[in-house]
Amino acid sequence: QHPGGFSDRNYDWSSEEEEYEKKAQPVQVLVVKDDHSFELDEGALNRILLSEDVRDKEVVAVSVAGAFRKGKSFLMDFMLRYMYKTEPVDWLGDYNAPLSGFSWRGGSERETTGIQIWSEIFLVDKPDGKKVAVLLMDTQGTFDSQSTLRDSATVFALSTMISSIQVYNLSQNVQEDDLQHLQGRQSTPVLELKIRRGRLGMKMGGATADQRHPSDRTSSGTTPGIWQIGYGRDIPETISDQTTACTVNVGRSCTFRNMVDVTGPISSAASVSIAFMSLIFLVRDWSFPYEFPYGAEGGSKFLEKRLKVSENQHEELQNVRKHIHSCFTNISCFLLPHPGLTVATNPKFDGKLKEIDEEFIRHLKVFIPWLLRPENLDVKEINGNKITCRGLVEYFKAYIKIYQG
Ligand code: GDP
Ligand code: MG
Repeated sequence: QHPGGFSDRNYDWSSEEEEYEKKAQPVQVLVVKDDHSFELDEGALNRILLSEDVRDKEVVAVSVAGAFRKGKSFLMDFMLRYMYKTEPVDWLGDYNAPLSGFSWRGGSERETTGIQIWSEIFLVDKPDGKKVAVLLMDTQGTFDSQSTLRDSATVFALSTMISSIQVYNLSQNVQEDDLQHLQGRQSTPVLELKIRRGRLGMKMGGATADQRHPSDRTSSGTTPGIWQIGYGRDIPETISDQTTACTVNVGRSCTFRNMVDVTGPISSAASVSIAFMSLIFLVRDWSFPYEFPYGAEGGSKFLEKRLKVSENQHEELQNVRKHIHSCFTNISCFLLPHPGLTVATNPKFDGKLKEIDEEFIRHLKVFIPWLLRPENLDVKEINGNKITCRGLVEYFKAYIKIYQG
């Protein structure tokens, strides 16, 4: 039995040396380098997602994203405890055991911007009897300077495209800045359609509907039919497993779950944004429980107020809100209390439950199952099609190319 109370399925501490390869651990699959280039560890990605027992399973990708030093990895370790649980109710485990899993630590030093995934994919039975593969991702960013902001926003956008559930981890509140990081202008999950010889291509990058290159509008007239949309600079001949009919309204921003075939009249370039699935704002150290109580219900009321679009708001504020609403299928919010001073400030703190505030644990016990219980694990869908681990690897590679392109 692993000290953290995990089942020892992959935690074999007895024959450490030879078991090392098999031991579950976080694996850095995406790194943003100092020159702002992205490096994807395809080997690691393949090894994890293409292993025989998971590759053909539909995938649930749970990502936790946000700035450094806000308790993401700490939280992920509790997610791991839940996933490795041997008892359905008492999944928190031993009160005296330190936490382990994703590395987390105090101090203000920064870490690599990028994406780490847990090397073990969990197989979970959904209530309908289907077995799905659950991937956990830890995404790091530094939202401190203009240059790192862009990288972080890109990592954020990527992890959002790859995941089916994105937990946006925030400290204390949901600030205007936090909302802006979700918006097109910086991270730009905005796709631009181009019409060329009856086919549509799409480009992803800094462009929004208003900044389209006039040269991209190479065709006009109304031509109904199946339009293929691809990513990158080239328009692919065929796009594998997706087809969905959808009408692109000329000159209007049109939202559909990712991309691909479009049926309908198109007479000019139109911009499209990707619709993702669930976005969960997780607010840490929430300190106004008397206004909005801890948990999902308080969170929902709080978020409703925060994301409200109103006439007297500045146009920019309105746009940010509209964009978020159009990008996510489900948006929710959970308010967590402060975990106590030991967690926040003691450099020797190693994650023992007994040193964490009771109230935090009480709400954590609600949050984690709310996030991860089998019925709430939504399979990743792109354009209405459920994606397998194998498919996810392809998307991962394709999306990276968009940003490299
Ligand atoms: P990450 O960089 O976002 O992954 O943050 P870490 O999980 O590494 O945690 C950074 C520091 O914050 C550690 O010292 C944790 O003990 C502490 N911490 C973890 N959760 C919380 C929380 O909810 N509130 C506060 N104030 N600190 C936390
Ligand atoms: Mg971390």
